[in-house]
Amino acid sequence: MSPKDLENLQHEVASLAKRQGDLEDVVLEVMERREAAQERVAELTGRVESVQAKVDDAVARRDAATAGLDAETATATKERELVAASIPADLLKLYDKLRAQSGGVGAARLYQRRCEGCRLELNITELNEVRAAATDAVVRCENCRRILVRTPESGL
Ligand SMILES: [Zn+2]
Repeated sequence: MSPKDLENLQHEVASLAKRQGDLEDVVLEVMERREAAQERVAELTGRVESVQAKVDDAVARRDAATAGLDAETATATKERELVAASIPADLLKLYDKLRAQSGGVGAARLYQRRCEGCRLELNITELNEVRAAATDAVVRCENCRRILVRTPESGL
């Protein structure tokens, strides 16, 4: 090997060593970026799990509430059937008609001279008519037409 060849070879070795160093820096940088990305994935996975746990909890509470409402509905429906069976057919028919016309409330308590269906206070003439009516007569609110239910608190 001539001195010239040796010089060229040494130059090439130095150049390859520098290239290796540069590539090692690139590998190091890629590894650091990969590590940062893995940390981000772990963080986001944790957040997804946390949100999913909240969703699961809300779904469980909704289902429990729905089951409670279904049970209440079943009980109320049975109670209504029992009460409806004890009411004269013509009165029940009137009640059901008024109920359909008045947003689901066909009868309202008369409380301290006020119809609790429409919240209006009866005037003196209306009160006198209600006072004069027989205790088993069906009296109606002049304003909303609902059946008025008289109680000791009616203010009569
Ligand atoms: Zn009324």
